[in-house]
Amino acid sequence: MTKTNPEQKKYRGRFAPSPSGELHFGSLLAAMASYADARHHNGCWLLRIDDIDQARVVKYSDQHILNALEQCGFSWDENISYQSQCINQYHAALQKINQTELSYSCTCSRKQLKTFSSHGIYPGLCRDKGISDIDDNKSAIRVKVPSENISFIDQIQQKYGQNLTHDTGDFIIYRRDNVFSYQLSVVVDDFYSGITHVVRGYDLLDSTPKQIFLQKILDYPQPHYAHIPLAVTEENIKLSKLSHARKVNCDLKTLVLAARFLGQGPGQGQRGLDHKDFDNKDDFWQYLITHWDINRVPKMEKQVIMY
Ligand SMILES: [Zn+2]
Repeated sequence: MTKTNPEQKKYRGRFAPSPSGELHFGSLLAAMASYADARHHNGCWLLRIDDIDQARVVKYSDQHILNALEQCGFSWDENISYQSQCINQYHAALQKINQTELSYSCTCSRKQLKTFSSHGIYPGLCRDKGISDIDDNKSAIRVKVPSENISFIDQIQQKYGQNLTHDTGDFIIYRRDNVFSYQLSVVVDDFYSGITHVVRGYDLLDSTPKQIFLQKILDYPQPHYAHIPLAVTEENIKLSKLSHARKVNCDLKTLVLAARFLGQGPGQGQRGLDHKDFDNKDDFWQYLITHWDINRVPKMEKQVIMY
């Protein structure tokens, strides 16, 4: 038995789908990995609906996602939070960043940026223009990034780092269409929910240094990170709402397939998990949570799935 230090912060994990379609296999993987890791550590697992970008919200899809999760056998703690109801928190964080003088208004158009940089790295055109009027409805707000390596130890992918100056340039925290950026909102959400562990898809690995940088300037603690491989089709297309991945089946077979994708099951040299090993979904979850081992999740960017 491992003794838990009472001073140690209790594990708090989360799953944060955007309500832009049904729950598909790719998001089931993120839900499963974050859930199993949290429950294996006797932690809380929270749900957050990432609806900050209202233009992308598909009506009722939050309800469809929640129904699918419930049918799959997930159970969550506390109230479900909606980003659209947390706007004051984002405003407060933005204000705090503005006070550090690390932020500035950017009036560059997409077209302008294309001529200056072909790699999507912001060339710093507005950095020294000294425009600070953030309420003019025409400009975005960027944050000045340092020229130093920001690295962290990912619990699956191991060491990862970026020099934001070279890899991204000053990035947007408030969009010119008056929407808080994903980078800012996710950092603020995780802080206010007291998230200690973030388990999510590989596509967000290269967002993590930006988020760590924002945590530093906002004086927030840094959660642990783990990025699971992405599920792709044989044609190397990521399963996502954009690729019109179909709605996930909430049956035992699908759950077992997801657990196998995540490398779970008996040790090497033994046959993989089979849905016939389990009487029902409860039986499956009990097994997965007890035997969950994050070290067995493949250290890969992506894996092909036949689904
Ligand atoms: Zn600009």
